[in-house]
Amino acid sequence: MTDRIDCVVIGAGVVGLAVARACARSGLETLVLEAEAAIGTATSARNSEVIHAGLYYPRGSLKARLCVQGRQALYDYCASHGIAHRRCGKLIVATDDAQIDALRRIAAAADSNGVRDLRRLDAAQAQAREPALRCVAALESPSTGIIDSHSLMLALQGDLEAAGGLLALRSPALSGLVLKDGGGILLRIGGDEPMELIARRVVNCAGLHAQAVAAALDGLPPGSIPAGRYAKGNYYALSGKAPFSRLIYPVPEPGGLGVHLTLDLGGHARFGPDVEWIDGIDYRVDPARADGFYAAIRRYWPGLRDGALHPDYAGIRPKLIVPAGRDADFLIQDVRAHGVPGLVNLYGIESPGLTACLAIAAEVTQRLA
Ligand SMILES: Cc1cc2nc3c(=O)[nH]c(=O)nc-3n(C[C@H](O)[C@H](O)[C@H](O)COP(=O)(O)OP(=O)(O)OC[C@H]3O[C@@H](n4cnc5c(N)ncnc54)[C@H](O)[C@@H]3O)c2cc1C
Repeated sequence: MTDRIDCVVIGAGVVGLAVARACARSGLETLVLEAEAAIGTATSARNSEVIHAGLYYPRGSLKARLCVQGRQALYDYCASHGIAHRRCGKLIVATDDAQIDALRRIAAAADSNGVRDLRRLDAAQAQAREPALRCVAALESPSTGIIDSHSLMLALQGDLEAAGGLLALRSPALSGLVLKDGGGILLRIGGDEPMELIARRVVNCAGLHAQAVAAALDGLPPGSIPAGRYAKGNYYALSGKAPFSRLIYPVPEPGGLGVHLTLDLGGHARFGPDVEWIDGIDYRVDPARADGFYAAIRRYWPGLRDGALHPDYAGIRPKLIVPAGRDADFLIQDVRAHGVPGLVNLYGIESPGLTACLAIAAEVTQRLA
């Protein structure tokens, strides 16, 4: 007889682990399937590790709500679980008068999202905080921070296992069949010991592969699967010490937040990510793209030396294709969207998915209930 289980989460990135932890803690017998040999080797290991405040996202969007809720939950979780993080703050800078309107729009969006701690700075105030900076005005976000994302994922895995949940590595979900009697989803699982399992609930947290996983579920209406594409973000590391103690962001560009400076917990600086539209998964960083970075960074940091940037790493955003002029939101589909009881598909979980992971998990468990 085929084994049955309450809940299978597909994908052990930061979102899958947070969802599985929440499911296990709500009393469901939970198994996480991960295709790779370790947790968090995909997008969750290839991002800026920034705890976002929730400034940019349109009012009422899932990104806005889950970022603001998730940020506070994440700071609390870091404090209670001893996860390395720092509330270092960030400056968003206008480098000419034409960008001041963009700062106003960001301040208004932040306000409508309930982020009330933004400070408007003139050039002198910004330079008093960061003397190497050149700008005509800035916004300061004191509730932005940085986090060790791998420690976060290990803590989530620990909580999952403490609540009786299981993690199966090298265990890709290959395909599934929605059972007609409403009894769940029959999953075919690959790896060294292929097996079949009937799950009453399935949460698809496969990140860049979420659409492919959904397309392999026989009985899920194909029309419910949104079109997506990949936007690679390349990073370049700075050799030597950065003269900044806060994160520095230009005003956003289409598809991303602009080539910004982030710091890791060791104080090392990296610049990125840019936006490079790609067809397949390829994490190589082309040294030649650094040329464009120098120009973008010198708008706010004229002191950047020639030759100081080195190719570092790249991450890939799972973008949803939306009509021109609209911003892509997270898409969390439950039975109301696709008609399959017990199935939740997560699509387009790009930034701020790391910040929002605990709030996404709460949202998913609520929808499963
Ligand atoms: C360049 C970049 C910068 C970012 N910066 C930030 C930031 O600073 N702050 C922030 O909040 N967010 C940021 N994000 C977003 C954040 O990194 C993601 O939202 C988050 O990591 C997504 O986690 P995930 O678990 O959904 O996906 P992933 O981490 O991609 O995990 C999906 C997992 O599913 C597994 N999988 C796939 N197919 C299968 C299958 N068939 N069976 C089993 N397992 C499978 C994969 O191996 C993978 O481990 C950034 C993203 C990018 C690309």
